Amino acid sequence: MKRIAILGGGPAGAFAAEQLSAAGLETVVFDEKLAWEKPCGGGLTFKAYQQYPFLIDNNTPKKVIAETVLAAPKAGDVTLRLRKPILIYSRFDLNRMLLERAERAGARIEKARVTEMTRTGAGWQLKTKAGTMAADFCIVATGARNPLRDVGTELTGSDAMSALGYYVPGERDQIDIQFLPGLEGYIWVFPRCGHLSVGICGKGEPAQALRKRLEAYMVERGISWKGASFYSHLLPSLETPSWKRNRVAGDGWMAVGDAAGLVDPITGEGLYYAIRSADLAAKALLSEIGDLAGQAYRRMLRRDFAGDLEFGSRLAKRVFLGRFLFGSVPGRMVQFTRSSPKFASIMQDLFAGTQSYLGLKRRLIENLNGSLLEVAMNASLHRLVPGRVRA
Ligand SMILES: Cc1cc2nc3c(=O)[nH]c(=O)nc-3n(C[C@H](O)[C@H](O)[C@H](O)COP(=O)(O)OP(=O)(O)OC[C@H]3O[C@@H](n4cnc5c(N)ncnc54)[C@H](O)[C@@H]3O)c2cc1C
Repeated sequence: MKRIAILGGGPAGAFAAEQLSAAGLETVVFDEKLAWEKPCGGGLTFKAYQQYPFLIDNNTPKKVIAETVLAAPKAGDVTLRLRKPILIYSRFDLNRMLLERAERAGARIEKARVTEMTRTGAGWQLKTKAGTMAADFCIVATGARNPLRDVGTELTGSDAMSALGYYVPGERDQIDIQFLPGLEGYIWVFPRCGHLSVGICGKGEPAQALRKRLEAYMVERGISWKGASFYSHLLPSLETPSWKRNRVAGDGWMAVGDAAGLVDPITGEGLYYAIRSADLAAKALLSEIGDLAGQAYRRMLRRDFAGDLEFGSRLAKRVFLGRFLFGSVPGRMVQFTRSSPKFASIMQDLFAGTQSYLGLKRRLIENLNGSLLEVAMNASLHRLVPGRVRA
């Protein structure tokens, strides 16, 4: 391979560029905006910065959040003190840091929109406003709104969530998560440096209805959106059959991050998977030739995390809309976190990103009797000594 073109310079594209340039390949990144404030919470889990320590060991401004409040209708709320904090970046800062790392590793960064990619024999011809460029291989990292229809995942209406919200002035030291009746999604309040990101994501509901739900929550919580900037975007959330036929690689290309649909279908976490998939794509490209690289990438993705996310897609509806012991699952999650240290420990690991979905069912079943006992004991204790419990 002589030249690799990377289409999109978000976390996925920038990290792929860093890895490939560091290995000595000529790498060119095209991004129409370069570093920008992409609509995003900017939250990075422990799983991400444990595996990629540069995500925490740097001078880029970030918030380190060690407390989250979970709330659900009819269940009140519970404060979870996170043993493994969550980092929150502005996306402008995070993207800039990643692009700078790519540039330092030797990648060429071009501010341009790729409008067309045409297969020419064994290579590609890429078109931008400024002209054309030839490349031997393309990494597609153009995000959830990938305009290049012939490459990357093929999102259908049911494979995506709407996500929207406001950047509101304010300071806080905790994350708020609010579940809502009948919504496959949730509201979040993420504290960032200098402001809050207050947003909602949901599947199967029009953006206008989601916005109404969010504004009702903000009124209730006394959070004003006057003068705040509004954002909206698409969040891939693949249904199970779509994971099975997901188009992540083809003749002369691989897709990474959102352009490959690689987002947790329950939490909406995508930053880790953008970086991880870029890492795997680079490894596949450096170790295999031609079609074999695409096959190797598919295999690596599946083994590493895509199999787990596919299983997560089977659980998503049950998590948000299911019922357990005559109550809603989100409500029970809040109550159990409040009353059962065993269950709270599972929630800790889910927030850290270290609990797989494939292992979740077994762990829940193994802990069920103990958790129920703790809930029952806690309930009787509360009848004697009323008060709130911190998990
Ligand atoms: C509201 C919201 C909140 C979120 N919160 C979180 C969170 O807290 N934590 C988390 O882990 N994930 C979160 N996500 C998901 C996360 O934002 C994405 O998973 C992540 O940005 C994916 O990175 P990426 O590099 O694949 O794509 P993107 O970050 O979307 O980057 C794609 C890049 O490609 C460029 N581009 C597109 N088309 C072209 C073209 N034709 N030519 C040149 N350049 C092009 C764009 O300018 C962009 O810079 C959130 C998503 C949304 C919508």
